[in-house]
Amino acid sequence: MFEQFVQFVRDQFGENERFIPLHEPRFCGNEKQYVNDAIDSTFVSSVGRYVDRFEEMIREYTGASYAIATVNGTAALHIALVLAGVKRDELVITQPLSFIATSNAISYTGAEPCFIDIDPATLSLSHEKLAAFLEEQTDVRKGNCYHKASGKRISACVPMHTFGHPAVIDAIVRLCGEYHIPVVEDAAESLGSTYKGQQTGTFGLLGTYSFNGNKTITCGGGGMVVTNDEALGKLAKHLTTQAKVPHKWEFNHDYIGYNYRLTNLNAALACAQMEQLDRFIANKRELAGLYQEFFGATPYKFIEDPADSQSNYWLNAILLNDRRERDEFLEYTNNRGVMTRPAWTLLTKLPMFSHCLWGDISNAEYIEDRLVNIPSSVRLI
Ligand SMILES: *Cc1c(COP(=O)(O)O)cnc(C)c1O
Repeated sequence: MFEQFVQFVRDQFGENERFIPLHEPRFCGNEKQYVNDAIDSTFVSSVGRYVDRFEEMIREYTGASYAIATVNGTAALHIALVLAGVKRDELVITQPLSFIATSNAISYTGAEPCFIDIDPATLSLSHEKLAAFLEEQTDVRKGNCYHKASGKRISACVPMHTFGHPAVIDAIVRLCGEYHIPVVEDAAESLGSTYKGQQTGTFGLLGTYSFNGNKTITCGGGGMVVTNDEALGKLAKHLTTQAKVPHKWEFNHDYIGYNYRLTNLNAALACAQMEQLDRFIANKRELAGLYQEFFGATPYKFIEDPADSQSNYWLNAILLNDRRERDEFLEYTNNRGVMTRPAWTLLTKLPMFSHCLWGDISNAEYIEDRLVNIPSSVRLI
């Protein structure tokens, strides 16, 4: 099967010789025109009409009332956590299966992640395990949720829509609402994925996206915070632009702000990519359908759209039977120029986070042993 898989991937990408990466960017629209235009305008830095236009495009696409562009997705997540009110020595619920940036951003606030298992159907935070944790290990006092054993306040919950597949986000948001915990969606991987027809990233108090080079669309480096809360939307813009108080010439600042605003050069690229987002997602969903058919005739499970969801299929994934077979598959495919990768090492195993709070994470462990991501770029057809 491994041999047929390599040939299948080569056929889909029309590449019989060249190395096939996991996810490469595609620039087949107005990218060069817009970037040249940004250079000609001399507005290459954090002020310029492409930054504003990019924010407008995200608002329109996602339906969020406010969108604030940032230098990358990690910065977007950091600022969203600050806006959600996360402070030093508090706890932020998230999942052990995620890219390191999720837990790093939590750490930047001085808080610590608290890891709840994933749902095997979505690979994202499990609302059932979350419900059990909240019921057994926390209590609510004066509108705040506290972890009973440590006495620490739980100040946010960060579900991540893994590989583009939406979490059961309505249940997570409802549950967190009952416990007075704001939800910050890490939708870095899931731009364009919908749950019950609504864009991921727009269910929580705040949501964030990434436009890194390996994401569905890219602007080199970039991120976005979205929210429907007017006060938070305005504060997000203020904090990401050094918290400068508007004035014709004076330099006054009223918070410790951040230099997190996206540059106009990157935003120019982003605007051109946004124009192609729907086409890219349709292209990626078609590839996912072909993979699904291929793996249907093998003993391996292809990870599909969870119920009620339309995934952007950022990264296609399959499950091998065990860790040994997973490693054989990785070895075979990578040696033959078809890039495949295992899931991230669980965050609970990393030295910075191994002391954090976590309970049963058997679903994440199962997935970590078996999952492999396979080539998922938009095909040029
Ligand atoms: C890509 C990614 C981010 C943020 O990425 P940047 O490279 O900082 O734009 C955050 N969380 C997850 C889960 C990601 O995959």
